[in-house]
Amino acid sequence: MSTTLIQPTETGIAVKNLINGQWIPGDRTFESVNPANRTHVVGTVPLTPRDQVDAAVAAARAAFVPWRQKSWVQRAEYVDNLAQLIKRDLEALSRLVTIECGKPYNEGKADVVEALHMAQFMAGAGRQHTGYVVSSEIPAKDAYIWRKPKGVVGVITPWNFPFAIPLWGVLPAVVAGNTVVFKPSEETPVLGHKLAELIQEAGFPAGVLNVVHGMGEETGDALVKNKDVNVVMFTGSRAVGSLIKREAVAGEVHKFVATELGGKNAVLVLDDANLDIAVNAAVLSAFKTSGQRCVSSNRLIVDRKLEPQFTERFLEKVRRITVGDGLDPKVFMGPLVNQEGVTKWHFHNEKAIEEGGEVLHHGKELTEGALAHGNFVEPFVYRFEQYKPGTFCLREEAFSPHTCIIGVDGLEEAVRVYNDTDYGLAMAVITEDYRKWRYVRENADFGLGYVNLPSIGAEVHLPFGGVKGSGNGHPAAEGAIDYLTHRVAFTVNHAEEILLAQGLSADL
Ligand code: NAD
Repeated sequence: MSTTLIQPTETGIAVKNLINGQWIPGDRTFESVNPANRTHVVGTVPLTPRDQVDAAVAAARAAFVPWRQKSWVQRAEYVDNLAQLIKRDLEALSRLVTIECGKPYNEGKADVVEALHMAQFMAGAGRQHTGYVVSSEIPAKDAYIWRKPKGVVGVITPWNFPFAIPLWGVLPAVVAGNTVVFKPSEETPVLGHKLAELIQEAGFPAGVLNVVHGMGEETGDALVKNKDVNVVMFTGSRAVGSLIKREAVAGEVHKFVATELGGKNAVLVLDDANLDIAVNAAVLSAFKTSGQRCVSSNRLIVDRKLEPQFTERFLEKVRRITVGDGLDPKVFMGPLVNQEGVTKWHFHNEKAIEEGGEVLHHGKELTEGALAHGNFVEPFVYRFEQYKPGTFCLREEAFSPHTCIIGVDGLEEAVRVYNDTDYGLAMAVITEDYRKWRYVRENADFGLGYVNLPSIGAEVHLPFGGVKGSGNGHPAAEGAIDYLTHRVAFTVNHAEEILLAQGLSADL
């Protein structure tokens, strides 16, 4: 495997909170570092205490009524401004994604392009329908289903799509008339700050979009527990999502939490699969973004008839994967985001060995030469010729370049094995037979399904989210307007007398 590192030249940025249109520096700070070179400080960032989070929520609350009183079209104009600014800064933002979170440049760019698409989509959504007229039992009545904003939305996001994921929630929220307090991931705060700068430049009124930085346990916790937050949009790990769900909604009947969590995703290679597609889809699913996508596949469920050929060709490609600094165009896998990620990768590999996995490619941690200060690891591949139920390694998300080839007999066993986890996020099936993919579509638990593709990939005009332990079925992106608004019933009588439904008497 070739390894390369381009020395970064950027200097650290002094990140500030954006509260009520004002830039507020932190009394206490932490550093955001480049995961390809931890000696490179990308930014110095506020650790925001509870009272400042409360001030941001109060600013959002104060801005809510005037913002709600604008039309959807007027609100969407601000989002259109933002789209133009993202387009203007596309290259610089893409490079910053690579520097702060480690993804290779092409992936960093795809992240920013997805953010741009979300802005374009929501700018257009201002001119789409905002409710429905429905028929009534009484001919003289018009009944409406009307979308009204909920109030203040807290948006808490992970680091792995630092530009796109925040906008999946923030933009539908504001176009629908809500105001927002956004807490970026502590791994990618400089990108959160860049987004805040663009929000200011786009001209959003003070208080409509506020940004507070810090750790989840302090700043995030203050946001989810604030009683004046109506909706929490959380994207991140299952452990934190469950905690937030327990704590944010405890006793708060009005509060809603949407959770977009992790996955134990898989590629299902059926007995009639095109092997070229199968092998390429498997490599992309397991190792793109160094396995750090919520939709990355830790499991390759392969029909036994094809398994030996598949494995040989898969390993051939794995051995050629390049690991290094994502600014090098030859690199396929950048660093893991932090050292805890490396520790977790070792832990999952050790569990796989302990539980009886046959190691096929024992990737190493790379700590020499130009890679000495980064979080670099190679792919880890193992095999279970027979499925072993109840194992940690085949059920828990590794969120790193760690994947298992599992041999199965036929379509039904492939789906049974796929479903045997607490998660239900993404699934790809490789087959030429429409009856087989239809069976998988009907019987597998997933929110994102792919045929003859990797298990990764998203487009903003599709809903993004999972089922079971992967989320509570309220997808982001296209789906977010549904939970960011109340659908209220509104009935208008055009007759000169009162007539009631179900034949109910209106006689006094
Ligand atoms: P994480 O759960 O550690 O952190 C996510 C966010 O939650 C961060 O902003 C963090 O500061 C905040 N947080 C942490 N503790 C908190 C608390 N007690 N209260 C409030 N906020 C708190 O996740 P991560 O490491 O940033 O991201 C990786 C995880 O995210 C993986 O599990 C991945 O699968 C998942 N993910 C899911 C999706 C999806 O759409 N389903 C997308 C991307 C990533």
